Amino acid sequence: MGELARLDRIGAVGALSAALAHEINQPLGAILSYAETAELLLDSPRPSHHELRALIAAIREDNLRAAAVLVRLRAWIANNAGQPQRLALNPLLHEVARILRVEVHMRDTELRLQLCDTVPEVVADGVQIQQVTLNLVLNALDALQQMAPEQRRVTIRSARNAAGGADVCVSDCGPGLSGIVAERLFEPFFSTKPDGLGVGLSISRSILERHGGTLEVEQPACGGALFRFSLPSAAAPSP
Ligand code: ADP
Repeated sequence: MGELARLDRIGAVGALSAALAHEINQPLGAILSYAETAELLLDSPRPSHHELRALIAAIREDNLRAAAVLVRLRAWIANNAGQPQRLALNPLLHEVARILRVEVHMRDTELRLQLCDTVPEVVADGVQIQQVTLNLVLNALDALQQMAPEQRRVTIRSARNAAGGADVCVSDCGPGLSGIVAERLFEPFFSTKPDGLGVGLSISRSILERHGGTLEVEQPACGGALFRFSLPSAAAPSP
């Protein structure tokens, strides 16, 4: 048990740094390209004030987002974060799509949201559930790297499940599990990526289980991979 706890801590630090690098890199990348576009505009004979103002506003917004990530990290380290609360999943999923828009664009991929109005509220730590979803979408983007651009599509769906709880599915049209036994993916340090740490899925599953939920993978008949997480409805008695 001690060894497992240690692995969990190493995993948590790895996953946290990877997530942090991802989250900080996106706004930084966006800020750079906005600034470059602004410089090009300034070099033109009649730079449009309107366009320059829009670029500066976008730079300010992404800067604040990077700062917010650091504020959350400080709170996490100080152990102030992580109070489960009643949470609507659809706005959280919209936020994930917003956070990833530059990454998705840079990888020449399409990200679709199919959100169902009847998905129930859950009781959860919103930051953790957002991290789980980000992880699943980033994995899907990685899986699509080797596909032709017209096949690069990720879909996030939300729905009410048969038990009255919430289901969120992240699916892609990538190569799927390529013969790997599904459960292996959830083992700590299992990775097929040259620079992969292999802890994202195992940590995601343990986060969901701590919330009374589950995380499973399916291989749809049409190909690709589908990761589904389920959480009990906020209206259900706590687990
Ligand atoms: P990492 O991303 O660092 O490899 P994860 O725990 O997130 O760690 O994923 C473990 C492994 O699961 C990946 O290396 C990959 O082989 C597999 N995997 C995850 N998501 C997908 C996906 N959408 N399609 C195919 N394989 C996947």
